[in-house]
Amino acid sequence: MGAFASYHHSDVTAEIKRLGEFVHLTSKAADVRNRYTPAKLNEHTSFIEDNMQTLVGKVGEYDSMLSSKGLLRRGSSYSGTKILWPDEYDYMPILANFNTNTVDMEDVQSICSDFRYRNLREEGFGYIKVKPGALSMHNMEKYTRNNEKGKYLCSEKLEDELRKLIIQSLQHMDTLTYIGELDHELNTDAQYERGEISIHERMHGPSFWLRVGGPLCTTDIDLCFSIEGNPTKQLGPCLMVNGNISERKCKCGYSNSQHWMKSVINPPVNTKYILSESHKELFLTLKYICHLVSEMSLWTHPDILSSYTVNMVLLTHQQTCKAVNVGECFEDIVRRILNKTNNDIINLHIYNYSPNYTYDVFFPKRMLAPHKHHSRAAIAWFMLQVIHTEDDEWIHKLLRLTKEPHTPEWWDTQLSKNDSDSRQLRDLMKVIKMCDSWKEDSPFRLEWHRRDGSVKASLTIKYDK
Ligand SMILES: [Zn+2]
Ligand SMILES: [Zn+2]
Repeated sequence: MGAFASYHHSDVTAEIKRLGEFVHLTSKAADVRNRYTPAKLNEHTSFIEDNMQTLVGKVGEYDSMLSSKGLLRRGSSYSGTKILWPDEYDYMPILANFNTNTVDMEDVQSICSDFRYRNLREEGFGYIKVKPGALSMHNMEKYTRNNEKGKYLCSEKLEDELRKLIIQSLQHMDTLTYIGELDHELNTDAQYERGEISIHERMHGPSFWLRVGGPLCTTDIDLCFSIEGNPTKQLGPCLMVNGNISERKCKCGYSNSQHWMKSVINPPVNTKYILSESHKELFLTLKYICHLVSEMSLWTHPDILSSYTVNMVLLTHQQTCKAVNVGECFEDIVRRILNKTNNDIINLHIYNYSPNYTYDVFFPKRMLAPHKHHSRAAIAWFMLQVIHTEDDEWIHKLLRLTKEPHTPEWWDTQLSKNDSDSRQLRDLMKVIKMCDSWKEDSPFRLEWHRRDGSVKASLTIKYDK
């Protein structure tokens, strides 16, 4: 990324040190491993894992074609980047019977694109062709669609079948009580009794989304069935997952459900793909800020950066990072998500429309959008607030308050109290409210002042037509 000059401060300023200290403090307080004893966390994780093993095993018993040869553990709970509560787990069962004996991987065609006009070939999509005679007629019918060039695996058919069998399995598990197909998005803070489990009525990206009452908390599980793909030279082993593209037929003439997306499972351990320890701390801190936004916003789905995008912005930053203090990295991330190519991050503007893009480090042609207003505004506010406020009592207060989950109404009441720590945090609430309701003609502006009253820094949020 040539636009972002790498920089090296020989003297770290007091401001940068404060920002670095904030990252240390916040990441420690937010890390789920510092909030529960290892024994408690292990009990919770085992409960989730054992039940998923049993579930996937049962699916294979009902239809041997859908048996799995392993359950890959994925996601933040296993990479040491989970914050606050152990309420999200990701698994990838690998289907055993779609393998090199039965299927061939092919790249999709250069004309293939989805509704966002992404070039699917460049983004690493593939077709999965079934070898002639490899499956019974019955299974051909069940799992493939015909093309002029042969029979190709259809993710839609596969998913319908898997959903039926997952539900059937859940209904017959001794350790769980199945409570139905629900809309998990409607009730994001549902509290389940231990052992109660439901499945989301739609797919969640390429995954089935389960919600279960666990020993420590209600927990969401992403279960992403996958098929072993061809390994790539730089990235190692790959799995093919449902590409999650629109219903329409692709220009290539194949149905969209015959386009599978490559997913990297074991990238080489180097700075290109794995975050350093201090960048991991920054990752946890940014996730914490995004979480806070989702608690304070009145929107059911505020405009928030996904963990995946944050990780990719950080990895891109890491390629040129020469910082000696993680505070410098925080500043650079703000530059990147606000698309500022110069060094001026003193007077910041957030507009409702100002797109910029970052790229997936694994598939550099895959574009990701970091222009998520709630996240951008809150991350920018935190940077300015930490840099320009010598007193850090408000940070300790915030970390204490976020030991428990809260609603926007609770935050409103809590922060209307008339003490100085609340006053600091009240500004954050104002920033989030502004993002909740863009007002066309009245830009919102916060200022930080020097002792003599002159303006040191500012944050402006403005509706831009
Ligand atoms: Zn196509
Ligand atoms: Zn850095």
